[in-house]
Amino acid sequence: MSADAIATAAYLVAALLFILALAGLSKHESAKQGWTYGVAGMVIALVATVALVVDRTTDDRLVNVGGGTSIVLLIVAVLVGAAVGLWRARIVQMTEIPQLIALLHSFVGLAAVLVGWNGYLEVERARGLPAGTEVLTGSLLRIHHAEVFIGIFIGAVTFTGSIVAFLKLAARMKSAPLMLPGKNLINVGALVVFAALTVAFVVQPQLWELVAVTVVALALGWHLVASIGGGDMPVVVSMLNSYSGWAAAASGFLLDNDVLIVTGALVGSSGAYLSYIMCQAMNRSFISVIAGGFGIEASSGGDEDYGEHREINAADAADLLAGASSVVITPGYGMAVAQAQYPVATLTQKLRDKGVEVRFGIHPVAGRLPGHMNVLLAEAKVPYDIVLEMDEINDDLADTDVVLVIGANDTVNPAAAEDPGSPIAGMPVLRVWEAKNVIVFKRSMAAGYAGVQNPLFFRENTQMLFGDAKDKVEEIVRALT
Ligand code: NDP
Repeated sequence: MSADAIATAAYLVAALLFILALAGLSKHESAKQGWTYGVAGMVIALVATVALVVDRTTDDRLVNVGGGTSIVLLIVAVLVGAAVGLWRARIVQMTEIPQLIALLHSFVGLAAVLVGWNGYLEVERARGLPAGTEVLTGSLLRIHHAEVFIGIFIGAVTFTGSIVAFLKLAARMKSAPLMLPGKNLINVGALVVFAALTVAFVVQPQLWELVAVTVVALALGWHLVASIGGGDMPVVVSMLNSYSGWAAAASGFLLDNDVLIVTGALVGSSGAYLSYIMCQAMNRSFISVIAGGFGIEASSGGDEDYGEHREINAADAADLLAGASSVVITPGYGMAVAQAQYPVATLTQKLRDKGVEVRFGIHPVAGRLPGHMNVLLAEAKVPYDIVLEMDEINDDLADTDVVLVIGANDTVNPAAAEDPGSPIAGMPVLRVWEAKNVIVFKRSMAAGYAGVQNPLFFRENTQMLFGDAKDKVEEIVRALT
């Protein structure tokens, strides 16, 4: 059997394992198994690719066009990539995972751009080789040119878009949307230029067209993501995930690599579907968000004076909890920062032992990753059956004695429901303000990720418990005994 046939069979097995990985990762219980399938698939794909390259280096025809150096380059790339990946994975904090993912998406985009450029240069070089060398001609050549152009475009949009997402998630760039005059026109104009250049390039390829599409796509990617406000970033992250998949699939066509095409398509379609689900959960238009906030106009920053806030200390909070019959905990990003999930689990157990009904209300975009809160609570062994989705708990909040808002802010902001001028207007939120008492755990009066002030903090039934969430929950646990 030829090396090509063995590699094709291995790629098929790897692709099936990737599908099983996605299926496994969709549920808590099977997530670990899904991860194992994914790793196995990746190992098989890598080994098959290396074996194929080794086999091809023995092919004289390919040695002539640089096959001999490929294996060295491949091994160096795998070693450098593995070393950097291991180093980052070991030191990354759970709260930094979203920006790390955004950065990794940018690498996929950059790789697609480089593969595209290489595809063009290789064909150009092959034209100059002696007669008898295989050279693409006719419609095959046109298809190749289209693949190069589209691959570079998607890759470059993904590259700069992901870098902006990284900067925004790492708080190195303001999360507020960039509102350039005529921003929708800029986006549409860039797409029109891309379409026109694609036709021109397929008909008569010229180097300047390739340079132009790369520059336009880099600028478009930057502008698309910069135009999206903090509250919509979850959708952007899954959208860039999807783009990175399509960029990888485009590279797969150029490199004639089946597993890259299949994997890219899997990532592309699952990312697009996740973006769609998140848009539904946040009451946002999918088209508007993928088009860089198309149709979203600048809104009021919400600088109103909401009056005075009230404070509570841990001992009084413990008394309030001990006298309650129902408690709902709504965690947010601050719980992840403080790593407060363990004392929160202990507090839950203590209150349940005293006969208090305790449940959790999870907003779909709480934290910085889809499912972020569920992962933290599962890690701290909070029983699944008391962890409810926003829609399952919202109607019960009015009959709840005490809501503990632990490090959440945007996801419990009444302005989303009540102020049509707010940047987060229309986003469904946990209606915690309907409860009899609300205790908000945070360190200051600072705004949440979307940069919007929260009128909840000034409501009559709200009391602020300032300090690190972990310390404060621990103090309450101690005061309860
Ligand atoms: P927010 O990010 O709105 O607010 C978190 C709050 O936690 C802050 O107000 C902060 O206040 C507080 N906090 C931070 N550290 C601590 C600490 N150590 N102890 C106590 N409090 C702390 O949180 P939400 O979870 O409510 O909202 C998530 C936001 O992130 C939404 O806007 C969402 O759109 C966005 N997002 C979500 C993604 C996802 O996939 N889930 C991805 C990208 C963005 P202070 O500084 O005063 O302590």
